[in-house]
Amino acid sequence: MQTALDFGIRQDIGWIRAQLLPILNFVRLLPPLSPAGQLVKSLISSRTRDPVSQQAFDQLTTVYPKLLDLLAASVEDIHDLICEVRFAGDKAGHLQKALRAIAAEHPDFDLSFLERFSRNHAMAWLESLDGVGPKVAAATLNFSNLNAELFVADTHVLRVFERFGIIGPKSTAWAATEIVVAAMEDWTAEDFMNLHIMIKVHGQKICHLHNPVCTACPLRSRCKAVHSRHVGSPRTSSRH
Ligand code: SF4
Repeated sequence: MQTALDFGIRQDIGWIRAQLLPILNFVRLLPPLSPAGQLVKSLISSRTRDPVSQQAFDQLTTVYPKLLDLLAASVEDIHDLICEVRFAGDKAGHLQKALRAIAAEHPDFDLSFLERFSRNHAMAWLESLDGVGPKVAAATLNFSNLNAELFVADTHVLRVFERFGIIGPKSTAWAATEIVVAAMEDWTAEDFMNLHIMIKVHGQKICHLHNPVCTACPLRSRCKAVHSRHVGSPRTSSRH
């Protein structure tokens, strides 16, 4: 019987991509945003379903089409526009503090200078902003028109990777990012973004936190959790 442990990480990730590739046929990709625009979007999107966070972002950018306008908005007004996302109050506060910090050094909100930074330097700069952790920082660098070669690991990615056997139960999002980037060093930014999208959709549709639909899963033949019967155990269902 083959399990994920029988294959190298690079082969595993390449195989996962090949199995999940059909998902991209059903995903509508939006044009990349500016780094600051993506930062705003990623900051309000965490732990929230995509349609809800997209609607919140659309409302925010309709009322405040320019970041300078958003900077001048009150936390209460921002909260009212993004109130459907999880932790909207915290996010509204973080958003305004982050925008203030950016505006203090870069009043035009042009973050294209991050392109010239090393990956770790760019991550550290973004993570110094209020409410910005590794996931939001990586999303800002990879999803925006900066096109950084970084992989964004969210809770769905961590769950699928842990069950499949790519990472251990205590691995962090940043550890998962580093594993994927190191293994797929010849990948483009788009390759990393597409892998993120495919695994996220897979986690939402099939590899659920509770009761994953393993019988319908294209990753089943090499999934460590299935073969070790750990699916649904506390260890593999504890992420949320
Ligand atoms: S086989 Fe089951 S646990 Fe493994 S990735 Fe697929 S849905 Fe998730």
